[in-house]
Amino acid sequence: TGLEKVGEGGEEEVGGVEEERREGEEMGMMKGTFKPPICQRCHGLKNFGRAPTHLTSSDPSKSLLTPLHFSAILTKALTPSVLRSNVVVILVDLFDFTTKGALSTLDNIIGDDKGANVILGVNKSDLFPRNTLTPLRAESWVRRELRIAGINCIKGEKGDVRLISALTGFGVQSLISKISGLMNEHNLDGVYVVGGANVGKSTLLNKMVGGKRGEGKATESQLPGTTLDILKLKLKDGKFLYDTPGLLVPGSITTLLSTSELKLVCPKKRVTAKTFRVSPGGCVMLGGLARVDLHKDAKPFLLTFYVGNEVDLHPTRTDKSEDVLKRQVGKMLKPPIVEGDDDESRLERIGMLGGMEEHIYTIHGKGWKEAAADLTIRGLGWFSVTGSGDAKIKVTVPKGVEVNMREESL
Ligand code: GDP
Repeated sequence: TGLEKVGEGGEEEVGGVEEERREGEEMGMMKGTFKPPICQRCHGLKNFGRAPTHLTSSDPSKSLLTPLHFSAILTKALTPSVLRSNVVVILVDLFDFTTKGALSTLDNIIGDDKGANVILGVNKSDLFPRNTLTPLRAESWVRRELRIAGINCIKGEKGDVRLISALTGFGVQSLISKISGLMNEHNLDGVYVVGGANVGKSTLLNKMVGGKRGEGKATESQLPGTTLDILKLKLKDGKFLYDTPGLLVPGSITTLLSTSELKLVCPKKRVTAKTFRVSPGGCVMLGGLARVDLHKDAKPFLLTFYVGNEVDLHPTRTDKSEDVLKRQVGKMLKPPIVEGDDDESRLERIGMLGGMEEHIYTIHGKGWKEAAADLTIRGLGWFSVTGSGDAKIKVTVPKGVEVNMREESL
């Protein structure tokens, strides 16, 4: 087909030794009986209500939609007959993985339509520490998360889950071959690439067709009959590539950050896992954006953080943390970045986060050899919790930022 990879970056090795899977084991449950595991505050949280200004303004070539518009536009585009005659590639960011948002919306639209050709591209594999992630492990972890969330659209013979890095090119060629294979075998018309904002869709499309969105070698035209920005690109062999607008990310901490702060939070390079042994009454501060406290009645636990290397992690005691924050935000504790080196500027930047809220989890340790759970902070990363006995953990984040517990540590 006319799909071919153009541009830098060959296939890069990720991961190393495959880790043992921990399928079917009892999981540390959080307080209460929620299922899926999500804290009470997040449970009711559907929409952050604030547009991420960096996403809407910095790159006018990108079109981003609110959840409602995203759903409406893709429902209109992905009709049953379109699903039968095209491949759909749903792209997700493994570093900021969630089965909510774009994935659940698309699952509602596609359902378990047996005729659909859906591939899940799991992007940003290059960010993961070596030796912790093999394609096999990542793919089976993702499939398990899909099962837990009841996502059915990527199933069956044609449904595939592929670990890739649009940035380095890892897995991209084989993803393209898979798409081409499906198109040839079933005589399909083209491929739709869909997903949330910031998952790497533009980067992948550039690899697929070369050039920038709208500047590719392929000819483009707005999809007739739509007012929205679905770009239709004609490929060399007469097949089509559809570039769909991204979904704004509700509940992500990125919505509260400036462009320069985002650079600290969104990792560009492989992330180094950082482990702290936290004693009861102790905490770890994630810059001035979030704090993780271990309750004073707990035993010590190991917390291993997977966040951008430029996010300052600072262990201290919970009772000192407020004071440390006021003095060090923007200095030892970045992000946020604070203009000016006075208390007033520091307080002002803290205030601009819009107030904080707490999410409390009780995690049943599985001993020192394996993590009992991951707690994710949307847009920032996650940490795993390892130890024995029960850990009562409090995660303090700006209001509206989603915190989730994952049943199995990634
Ligand atoms: P889009 O909003 O989905 O079109 O996302 P972009 O392609 O603009 O990518 C968003 C950000 O993620 C950019 O900073 C990219 O450089 C980065 N990015 C995209 N793909 C990858 C990847 O595979 N690995 C890493 N580390 N970063 C990526």
